[in-house]
Amino acid sequence: MSKTKGFFNILDAHFFSSAYKALSQGKVVEFKPKIKQETGITYDLFGIEVPEERLQYYRERGFLEVSDEISLPVCPICGEVCLHPLLLCPKCGSMNIEKKELMAHYDCGYIGPVEEFETREPGVYRCPKCKKTMNRVGIDYGRPGFGFTCKKCGSVFQVPLIEVECQKGHRNKIQTLDMEKYPVYRISPEVKKFAAIYYAIEELRKRLASLGVESEPFARIKGLSGITHTAPLYVNAKPAVIVDIVTEDFLDEKYLLGVAVKAVDLSDTITLLVLPRNVKSDFEKIFNPEKVKVFKVEDLMNSMDQIVNEILTLIGARLHEKT
Ligand SMILES: [Zn+2]
Ligand SMILES: [Zn+2]
Ligand SMILES: [Zn+2]
Repeated sequence: MSKTKGFFNILDAHFFSSAYKALSQGKVVEFKPKIKQETGITYDLFGIEVPEERLQYYRERGFLEVSDEISLPVCPICGEVCLHPLLLCPKCGSMNIEKKELMAHYDCGYIGPVEEFETREPGVYRCPKCKKTMNRVGIDYGRPGFGFTCKKCGSVFQVPLIEVECQKGHRNKIQTLDMEKYPVYRISPEVKKFAAIYYAIEELRKRLASLGVESEPFARIKGLSGITHTAPLYVNAKPAVIVDIVTEDFLDEKYLLGVAVKAVDLSDTITLLVLPRNVKSDFEKIFNPEKVKVFKVEDLMNSMDQIVNEILTLIGARLHEKT
């Protein structure tokens, strides 16, 4: 489990830094579902293959949004998306068929692979059925292109019977396959805000963990209203502390109002709102002081110790009490 957690930490860092870069360059980035044999549906997340659940996880947290949907065929028996086509003889159903260039003798109507018509003389062909010599292309004989011959029953055909087999071996005709919809995702403009605080959140999580305090980055918590909120860092204590950080670039009244509303909607939690030092002080009166504690910092990454200390104070522990 910790191994998966470690992977997701690396993945998150990769995702946020890549998404931040892409957004800064004004790029539109989309993640389309891809079928991978054995694994099923995966998405290429800036060069790393991830399962759909991870993109759903990002979408729930507002990092991604659904931009489109595509439908892919799935096995109607087991729902499997990894399918491969089987080409069969339409007469006997055998898979022992070969692709050949075909030749047709107009006189008798025989069609077969070119090599059956070849003679020792180049450019001279003889029909294997009626044994007549054929000289003039378009008059005596034609070359209809590629087709198939069945090694089992000997029939010659241009279009094979196509069936589709899933990994469990269920065979279906194309018309009987089911369709399954998969979302196409793109990074949301919101990601920039989260990317800006990702490293601070991750650093806080690590420091708290070293002090024996469990916390979860970008946790989803259900409020009294039934709405699920994203907590940038959820410190699992009594009371629980939600740490939210707003950097200067993302400071806007609407977001702060959202923090105030969120804090009231989440019972038994206190929000520690970290703001830049130069924020106007009249912002603060929108917050219920029992629910939101505002903490201003000069330089975010250099204020980690103080923020950790604030968190510990809120949960009733002190840094110096832990040895
Ligand atoms: Zn199946
Ligand atoms: Zn012939
Ligand atoms: Zn056959």
